Amino acid sequence: MSRRIGLGAAPAGRGMSTLDALSVASEIFPLVKTGGLADVVGALPAALAVEGIRLRTLVPGYPPVTGALGGARVVHDFADLYGGPARLLAGEASGLDLLVLDAPHLFARAGNPYVASTGQDWPDNAFRFAALARVAADLGAGLLADWVPRILHAHDWQAGLAPAFLHYDALVRPGSRPRPGTILTVHNLAFQGQFPAALLGALGLPDSAFTTEGVEYFGSIGFLKAGLQFADRITTVSPTYALEIRGPEAGMGLDGLLRARAGALSGILNGLDVAVWDPATDPLLPARYDAASLAGRAANKAALQARFGLAADPAAPLFGVVSRLSWQKGLDLLLAAVPALLGAGAQLAVLGTGERALEAGFLAGAAAHPGRIGAVIGYNEGLAHLLQAGADALLVPSRFEPCGLTQLSALRYGAVPVVARVGGLADSVIDANEMALAAGVATGLQFAPVSLEMLELAIRRAVQLYRDPDVWQGMQRSGMAADVSWRLPAKHYAALYRDLAAATSPTPAAEPRA
Ligand code: ADP
Repeated sequence: MSRRIGLGAAPAGRGMSTLDALSVASEIFPLVKTGGLADVVGALPAALAVEGIRLRTLVPGYPPVTGALGGARVVHDFADLYGGPARLLAGEASGLDLLVLDAPHLFARAGNPYVASTGQDWPDNAFRFAALARVAADLGAGLLADWVPRILHAHDWQAGLAPAFLHYDALVRPGSRPRPGTILTVHNLAFQGQFPAALLGALGLPDSAFTTEGVEYFGSIGFLKAGLQFADRITTVSPTYALEIRGPEAGMGLDGLLRARAGALSGILNGLDVAVWDPATDPLLPARYDAASLAGRAANKAALQARFGLAADPAAPLFGVVSRLSWQKGLDLLLAAVPALLGAGAQLAVLGTGERALEAGFLAGAAAHPGRIGAVIGYNEGLAHLLQAGADALLVPSRFEPCGLTQLSALRYGAVPVVARVGGLADSVIDANEMALAAGVATGLQFAPVSLEMLELAIRRAVQLYRDPDVWQGMQRSGMAADVSWRLPAKHYAALYRDLAAATSPTPAAEPRA
């Protein structure tokens, strides 16, 4: 059974052959989530089921995952997996078909998947995610006799070693084992998973792997680099980000490799789980509404103002932020733009967690401007929904943004997105320029370059547009009519899976590379 994601998840259409695929990732919504990666990994199986792809997902057995697993079967035992015994469990949780790596010495820990309560990365992260990738590679090579995926889809650095293991395994034991086509999806190039070279042997990589054509990355072992080097195909989560990362500014040291592999690299915009994000049915909202009943947003705005300590002023343009508080998201610029925002008569509600300086900055802003600025520090799904349903506009001033999901929920909820023109923000918001407004297709505002001046200008421009209710509601309705679901992205992924399955032989004897 697949979790429905609001696009009528149905069995594969007539004449469509099914294809087995394995997705491997370090987080999955709704079980473990630190960011958009979890949303995507959680939504892909149901989205791809519609396209005839049977996608199972391998995830680490963190306590919330093993705790949620229903009807689990042990499908493999590992006597020693990087320092302890482990089991591979097959089961279902939240409608997801999961393979769970139950390795208590690596994953049975409370808290964040990557970071200890001290704020430092878990010291054994190299082994934790090497183990995940190792098991993914084994599954791809036929670990389970009754289920051999044709595609191995690895997400981010935590799964990056999987294509590398398959590559080096084939050198050691050529010819005998199945070989799935491999895809690496980069959700954020900023997180690269670099570890000391001295770990090479302990990670199960041969000495010969430590070259620039292998897993070496500026003197370290690079997990993401390894995936980029050895995956048959590379995708990232928007077409614009796929272009940007080929250049030095967004390429974060990997642009040379990405240029070399440009023929294998493409961008597929993320979708949104439009069943979870539906203002007409959302149980987390005080008032439900749709594009035909936008007035219903007023009650949500009032609730949002009350919850964030803002003045109960229905006419004040209310800007919202739902974000990790980090340099990437450009929120230091927003702090600097507060005087301009207040000068324009607007209110600001910020929901987020992250860098201490930014948390303190928004709390100080709220203290200095009671009734005008409200900040809630923390991670809260319910408040995220309320904010999208009650804010007039959503601010996303990111310096870089691989895709971004919050602007997609904003479109769906009628919070007009005001975004930096980068990455997936550039691909998903239609700027309210004169022509777009005249044609009635504008869905938000874009600004570039990402600077304080341009952000301030965008805020003033948004307030000006807000003051014309016809124009503003037209933008809200256009945004709410945009198809931000997984329907189209799923078609793109399915086409990629099928192309790759056709291009790669299941055995390593003939192994065409893009
Ligand atoms: P990133 O993955 O870079 O953090 P995205 O926009 O791709 O950014 O995804 C962020 C996801 O996390 C969205 O689903 C957003 O609603 C959610 N989110 C971010 N911060 C919070 C928060 N403080 N409370 C609730 N949800 C949050």
